[in-house]
Amino acid sequence: MHGHDVTAAAAAASGDQQPYAVVLGCIDSRVPLEAIFDQTFGAICVIRTGGHVLDRAVCGSIEYVVGQLGVPLVMVLGHERCGAVEATVEALRTGRRPGGSLAHLVDEIAPSVTEAGIDDPAVQPLAIRRHVRRTVRMLRQDELLAGSVAAGRVAVVGGLYDLATGEVALLDAG
Ligand SMILES: [Zn+2]
Repeated sequence: MHGHDVTAAAAAASGDQQPYAVVLGCIDSRVPLEAIFDQTFGAICVIRTGGHVLDRAVCGSIEYVVGQLGVPLVMVLGHERCGAVEATVEALRTGRRPGGSLAHLVDEIAPSVTEAGIDDPAVQPLAIRRHVRRTVRMLRQDELLAGSVAAGRVAVVGGLYDLATGEVALLDAG
């Protein structure tokens, strides 16, 4: 993306959009989704929330991209050392739930941390993987997406991004 000719790329993509994937990832500044996948304008739809947490706006956006634009691939991309997961582990260990809307993120990630085992010394990397898989499952069961998944019109997959190498590994459904 660096050194990109923005004007030319924008002009080339300014007709109807036909993206081939939607990627839901974390807000972490070290995980820039278009750059990671080397994608330019018009190629992928990107949604980023802390810890790739779902809410109605996120699900509605994915429903739109899959249902209206016919995009056949949804990827949930987690990453190592995710601050949202770390904050959730901390909140569960100390019993101190954050205030504000941050509480929503913690509440949504908490089941993944609990599944991983709060007392496990490796809870953070385990919870990060659990949380990707759980988010994938939730999207596959989404009211409007489930039919497309069952019909094979869309695949929902999970991946894990390695901050140090820039590599993405696919996670099985687990
Ligand atoms: Zn993160």
